[in-house]
Amino acid sequence: MSWEKKEFLYEGKAKKVWSTERDGFYVIEYKDDLTAFNAQKKATMEGKGQLNNEISAHLLAYLASRNIETHFVERIDERKQAVKAVSIIPLEVVVRNIATGSLCKRLGIKEGLEFPRPLLELYLKNDALDDPLVTEDHALLFGWASEEDLKIIRAISFKVNELLKELFRKRSIVLVDFKLEFGRTGEGRLVLADEISPDTCRFWDSSTGNRLDKDRFRKDLGDVLGAYREIWRRLSAKEE
Ligand code: UDP
Repeated sequence: MSWEKKEFLYEGKAKKVWSTERDGFYVIEYKDDLTAFNAQKKATMEGKGQLNNEISAHLLAYLASRNIETHFVERIDERKQAVKAVSIIPLEVVVRNIATGSLCKRLGIKEGLEFPRPLLELYLKNDALDDPLVTEDHALLFGWASEEDLKIIRAISFKVNELLKELFRKRSIVLVDFKLEFGRTGEGRLVLADEISPDTCRFWDSSTGNRLDKDRFRKDLGDVLGAYREIWRRLSAKEE
């Protein structure tokens, strides 16, 4: 299928979006830019966009094969993928299996604590406010999501966690936490949107504990691209 870009719509921190000749479909281009701490720290790493495009396409297609509806249609080339046009719910949904990052800072929880069950958090997508943590009540009161939306978001997020935890476990990777975004299709259905990549997840090597994600950039651990390449190598390797 050919996907002609029509009108440039939006440039975010890690992606650009175009409309296409086909109604109801967008083209997304993955950029080589990396940002952290609400874009206070920035870098460009050649090849990062291509790796995230591969990894995200692979994971979204995997979830679709397990009956999770997503915006993903197909990977077009090294940098681009075709997706269903959705209007994004202004919430970042974070699922955590192990304590790290902002959770430890905010609540003084010990880094590395393994939870008996996954923890789901909602953040408002608002760069000017630094994506603040919000409750379901905020989301309902301010109309960011309905009761029904929140029920669906929770159910899909926990299912995605189970599926990805298992997929990565088989590749000797611990899925520590990740962020999801949801969008509404033209027909009004809520589907999984955005990307799933080392930019949006934390991956720890099961045997060494090595960080294989954007924490290498956030914490200046070095070889950021090597970690992303390693994630793609393990994901794309044939299963035993
Ligand atoms: N995350 C993300 N985008 C954001 C904030 C967080 O993709 O704007 C991901 C992050 O990569 C991690 C998880 O969500 O996998 C939880 O992040 P945390 O709240 O600990 O934030 P951080 O430590 O990145 O500030």
